[in-house]
Amino acid sequence: MKQALLISPKKIEIQEVPDLKATSLKDNEILLNIKKIGICGSDIHTYHGKHPSAIYPLIQGHEYAGIVVAVGKKVTSVKPGMKATGRPQIVCGTCNPCKKGQYNICHNLKVEGFQANGVARDYFIIPEDRVVVVPDKINLDHAAMIEPVAVAAHATKRPRDMAGKNVVVSGAGTIGNLIAQFALLRGAKKVVITDVSDFRLKTAQKCGIKYVINVSKNSLENQLHEIFGSEGYQVAFECAGVESSIRNLMTTIEKGSDIIIVGVHAKDPAINMEELGEHELYLIGSLMYLHEDYLEAVHELSSKKIKLEPLITNHFSFKDYALAYQFIDQNKDRSMKVMIDL
Ligand SMILES: [Zn+2]
Ligand SMILES: [Zn+2]
Repeated sequence: MKQALLISPKKIEIQEVPDLKATSLKDNEILLNIKKIGICGSDIHTYHGKHPSAIYPLIQGHEYAGIVVAVGKKVTSVKPGMKATGRPQIVCGTCNPCKKGQYNICHNLKVEGFQANGVARDYFIIPEDRVVVVPDKINLDHAAMIEPVAVAAHATKRPRDMAGKNVVVSGAGTIGNLIAQFALLRGAKKVVITDVSDFRLKTAQKCGIKYVINVSKNSLENQLHEIFGSEGYQVAFECAGVESSIRNLMTTIEKGSDIIIVGVHAKDPAINMEELGEHELYLIGSLMYLHEDYLEAVHELSSKKIKLEPLITNHFSFKDYALAYQFIDQNKDRSMKVMIDL
């Protein structure tokens, strides 16, 4: 089988390695034939050597869909021939967060594609507790996006309350877009998404997010006032991962409100502590997801409540893995989700 190895930043090699075989499966394991891999912002940080905790050499890939080839003796939830994906979190099960059920923030968390090898290869083995069955009506491209949809499902459960509240999402990449869609599903009143790219904002509108603001062209404060009037907004999601984004949110959000931190900040931002203290703001973290978030993602995709089609902008074949990254670098403002087809 083939695998794509990121030897060091910006150096991907497609290698021929021995096949993973059904005969080597443990009782609880599943052998998947990988069909689709999505490339996301975190992968791009890793590719450039800017991810805070990725190891090298590394097989990337954590957003994926495949077909079950074989299952271990004790596996009951999937059968060969079924479509499936998996949660890429390797957790210890014994630390305090794990014991409390918050295994997404396990003290010993290893994420496949970052601190452990991921799925950028023809075959991959996962244990049954991390497999997620994909119903027939979800196609393989969409199935490979269950992971970012689960990120959005989880992040939108982090505010203390969101129903009936006005919401601002800063950053209209795939995650910001999906969070805005989920916020509407969870009963937010008006949802505004902001970005510096008209392409990403247009994509958001195609996904049903009505209110968009290009912060490079218009004053955020004035635009927010036009949309929310004196109501203001009470929940924000920081999905851009840049200092100006978190600072703008802290300045414009209603006092006493919630700001959820979702973006990966490659550079540590400076924030205004006086604003944080005197406005009694809640800065709330959000990391990845729990299994139930994957199941909710599958449910919402099955009932077509989340729109993915406008988000998938490009496809590359497996042999062109490195080209896909070069394309993303050169087309930052014209590409959203880039998919690798195996
Ligand atoms: Zn991702
Ligand atoms: Zn743990």
